[in-house]
Amino acid sequence: MLNTSSVTLRASALAFVWVFLAACDDDAAPASVTPDPTEGEKEDSAKIAANWKSKIDHTWLHVDLADRTAEASIWFEPGRSSTVSLEAAGLTIDAVTSDTGPVAWEKRAGALHIAHDVGKGPIHIDYRFPVEPQGEGLAGNGSTVLWPYYCGNLFPCRSGPADGMRFVMEVSGTKSDERAIYPEELPADAPSYTLAFAVGRYTCQVLGKTPAATEVSVCWLPRGKTKALTGTKSLVKAFAWLESHIGPYTFGKKVASIAVAWGESAAGGMEHHPYWHIATSEMELPLTHVHEAVHGWFGTGVRMRCWEDFVLSEGTTSYLSARALAQVTDARTENAIWDEYEETLEATLEDEDILAWPTTCGKVDILDDGLFSNIVYMKGAFFWRDVAKAIGPEVLDEVFSGFYRARVGTAAGMQDLLDEVRIETGFDPAPLVQKWLRSRGNPLR
Ligand SMILES: [Zn+2]
Repeated sequence: MLNTSSVTLRASALAFVWVFLAACDDDAAPASVTPDPTEGEKEDSAKIAANWKSKIDHTWLHVDLADRTAEASIWFEPGRSSTVSLEAAGLTIDAVTSDTGPVAWEKRAGALHIAHDVGKGPIHIDYRFPVEPQGEGLAGNGSTVLWPYYCGNLFPCRSGPADGMRFVMEVSGTKSDERAIYPEELPADAPSYTLAFAVGRYTCQVLGKTPAATEVSVCWLPRGKTKALTGTKSLVKAFAWLESHIGPYTFGKKVASIAVAWGESAAGGMEHHPYWHIATSEMELPLTHVHEAVHGWFGTGVRMRCWEDFVLSEGTTSYLSARALAQVTDARTENAIWDEYEETLEATLEDEDILAWPTTCGKVDILDDGLFSNIVYMKGAFFWRDVAKAIGPEVLDEVFSGFYRARVGTAAGMQDLLDEVRIETGFDPAPLVQKWLRSRGNPLR
C-alpha cells in the first residue's frame, strides 16, 4: 500500500535532520530510515505511544470514501516536543505539511514520526486508508470500529485509553442511495476509539427530547424499523435519568443509537458517542441501547487510566445501565436483567476465568491477554450491586455523580472511584473488591 520508493528518497535527503532530532527529542524520533512496517510490527505502535510526550488537543478529519483518501489536521497541546509521533499502522502517507510548508517525516514500526515544533500550530497529513477486517478500522460493511487500538488504520492518532481528543469530522464520497451517519463535531475529550462513522441506507427518527434538551434519535437499516423502535422505547427516559442523576452529558445536544451490520454472529454495541453503534442483532434489546448510552458517562466521559481499569468502564456501565433502565421501567425488567447477568457470568466461567481488575497498570494487552471478557462486565456489575446493597442505591448514584462531575473529560482509575466511595460514605469496599474483582470463581454460588 505504501509507496516505499518515494519514502526512501525523501527520507535519505532528510537524514541529517533526523540525526539532529534524535539527539534532542522528547518523542521517539528515528535516527535512521527503516522500511515501513511489516505484518507483526503493527501492535508495537500502541506500546510506543505510552512514551510519547506531546499530547493531541484536537483533530480535524476529512474522509473521502470514494477513493479512500483523507486529510487530517492535528493540533497539539502546548509543550516542548520538537517531533510528534502518531500511530498510523494502516495508513499510506502522501504528504505532511505545517502551516509554513512541507516538513520532514518518516513512517516506521506502525508510527508516523514528524519533525514539528508542537508550539507552531497544526500539522496537516494527506493519506490513504484501507478496508480492514471487521473490528479493525473501516470494514466492508461501511462502518468503523477502532476499539481498542486500531485508530491508526483510519487516521493518525494515539490509541491509549487515557489519551483524550476532540474532533471535527466530514465524510464524503458515499454512494447516492447511502448516507453517512457521524457527528460533525465531538466537543469534549474522548478516547480515540470514540470516532466512528456508519454508511448505509439509513432511516432515522427522533425519539424525543430530555428535560436537559438533548435530542435522542435512532437510525436503522432497511427492514430494521420495528426492532429499532422496540429497543429504544425507554431510551429517552433512561438518558434523562442519567443526565439528572449522574450529571450533564458533554458530547453535544443530539445523540442516537445507530444500527450497524456487523454480521449475524456479532453482538453488542460500541460506545461511539454521541452516535453509538448497536449490532443489528441486538437492536430490539433495550439494555444494549442504554449500555452504550451510559458509556457517555463512564468509559468515554471519564476515560480509563489504562486498560487494566476496564472494569471502571464496563463493570460500572453494566451496573448503571441496569439501574437506569430499571428506574424508568419496572421491577420485573430489573430482575430480568440481573437474571441475565447471572446466566452470562455462569456461561462465561465455563470457558474462562480471570481477575476482573488486574493489579498492574499499562501492562496488559486488552485483547491478547484476555481482559476483554464478560467476566469484567458481569463481576463489575455484581460488585456495584453489592456496594449498592450496603450503602443504598441512591447513595451510590450520588457517589457516581460526584465522581463524574469532578472527572469528566479526564482519565481515572477504578481505585479513584473506590476511594470516592470510602471518602463520601465511610463504607470500605475492600472486602467486596476482593470477593468480586480480585478472586476467581463465582461468588454467587
Ligand atoms: Zn460497554
